[in-house]
Amino acid sequence: MIGLGAAGSAALFHVARSGASVLGIDRFVSPHAYGSTHSESRIIRKAYSEGIQYLPLLNRAYTLWSELENASAIKLMHLGGCLTIGRKDGQMVQSAWKSAVAGNIRHQILSSDEVRRRYPGYHLQPGQAALMDFEAGYIQPERCVRTHLRHAAMHGAQCRFGTPVQSCSVRQDHVIVKTDLDRFAASRVILTAGAWMQDFAPVPLMIERVTNSWFQTNGSNFGPELCPPFIMEEDSGLKSYGCPDLGRGIKIGLHHAGQLAAHPGEIDRTIAAEDKIQAHRILKTILPEAAGICRKTTICMYSNTPDQHYLIDRMYGDHQHIIIGSACSGHGFKASSAVGESLAALALDQSPSVDLSPFKWRWPTKI
Ligand SMILES: Cc1cc2nc3c(=O)[nH]c(=O)nc-3n(C[C@H](O)[C@H](O)[C@H](O)COP(=O)(O)OP(=O)(O)OC[C@H]3O[C@@H](n4cnc5c(N)ncnc54)[C@H](O)[C@@H]3O)c2cc1C
Repeated sequence: MIGLGAAGSAALFHVARSGASVLGIDRFVSPHAYGSTHSESRIIRKAYSEGIQYLPLLNRAYTLWSELENASAIKLMHLGGCLTIGRKDGQMVQSAWKSAVAGNIRHQILSSDEVRRRYPGYHLQPGQAALMDFEAGYIQPERCVRTHLRHAAMHGAQCRFGTPVQSCSVRQDHVIVKTDLDRFAASRVILTAGAWMQDFAPVPLMIERVTNSWFQTNGSNFGPELCPPFIMEEDSGLKSYGCPDLGRGIKIGLHHAGQLAAHPGEIDRTIAAEDKIQAHRILKTILPEAAGICRKTTICMYSNTPDQHYLIDRMYGDHQHIIIGSACSGHGFKASSAVGESLAALALDQSPSVDLSPFKWRWPTKI
C-alpha cells in the first residue's frame, strides 16, 4: 500500500482484516497535515449534488463508518444534518434534491425564513433556499485515519511511516516497490498516494491549493446542534462550505476556487491575506454573527480528475497488479471507508460490494 491517508488507511484495514499479509508505507507519519486529510472536520452527506451514481458507495461508506465506530467504541460521524444552499432552481440544490429523492434520503426544502427559524445563525440571501439532508453531518478525518490504522495493525498489518516510496515497477507477476533503504516484492500494490499519485501512475490530475480558515464566533448559535454544516453555490457560481464551531471557531473553505498546479511540490504553502479575506466575506454573508477574527488558516490539496469524479480501478494491460484509488477531487473523505474496502476487494480478486463502473479509468492516457 503506497499512501496511508484517508483511502489508504481504510484499504490497509480491509486487506489486513481479510487475513492477507500487507505492508502500508507513507512518506509522513499519518495522520498528518501535508496531504488532503486534515483540518478537524469533513462534511458527510448523501443528498449528493455530485451525482446519483455515488449513492451505493455512500450508503456502503455509512455502514462501514458505523461498523468501525462499533468495533472501536470511538465516535467518528456526527449526523445532525447538512444544508445545501443556493437558488432553489440552481444546479447544486437541484442535483442534491434529485439524489435525495432517488436515494430515499430524509430531506426537506427550506425557505430562508424556515432556515432562520431552525438555525438562528444562518442568514440566507434573497432568492436562496436550502435542502436539508437529515442523514448528513460531519466526520472527523484524523480520528478516522488513526482508527483505521490501529485496527489494521490489530489484524496484523505492518506500517512504515516517514518513508517515501521512490518507485513502483511491475514485473511479470509481481510489483517491486523501492524506498531509500528497502526493496519489497508484492503480489499487488494499492496506490493511494493522493495528490502524489502522478509520481507512480499517469493519472491526469490537477492539484488544487485550498485553504480552510477558522473564525471566532459571537454567541452560542454556532455549535453543531444549532449550526449544521453547509455547502453553498452563489449566483456567481462560487462554491463554499462551512462546518460548525467545535471549539476553535467556525470553519470555512472555498470549493474549487484555488490555484492549480501539476504537482504537490508546486503548491504555494504560504498563507496570503486573500485566503482569509475571501473566507471572511462568505461567512459575513451567510453566518454574519460568526464572522469574528480569523484564528487559524491551513493549506490543503484537492486531487482533481478532469471530470471531478472519483477513480477506483485496476491499472490496465500489464499493470493490473496495481490498484489505484482516491483522486477524489475534493469530495472523497466521506466515502473513503468504502473506497478502501473496494480497493481491498480489487487487490484480493474479490467482487467489490458496490458497482465501481462509474469510477473506472476513463482517459485515453495509458502506460
Ligand atoms: C480543505 C479540504 C476540505 C475537504 N472537505 C471535504 C468534505 O467536506 N467532505 C469530503 O467528503 N471530502 C472533503 N475533502 C476531500 C477529502 O478530504 C479527500 O478527498 C481525501 O481526504 C483524500 O484522501 P486520499 O487518501 O486520497 O489522500 P491523502 O489522505 O492525502 O493520502 C495520500 C497519502 O499518500 C502519502 N504519499 C504520497 N506520496 C507518497 C510516497 N511517495 N511514498 C509514501 N507515501 C506517499 C501521503 O503522505 C498521504 O498520507 C476535502 C479536502 C480538502 C483538502
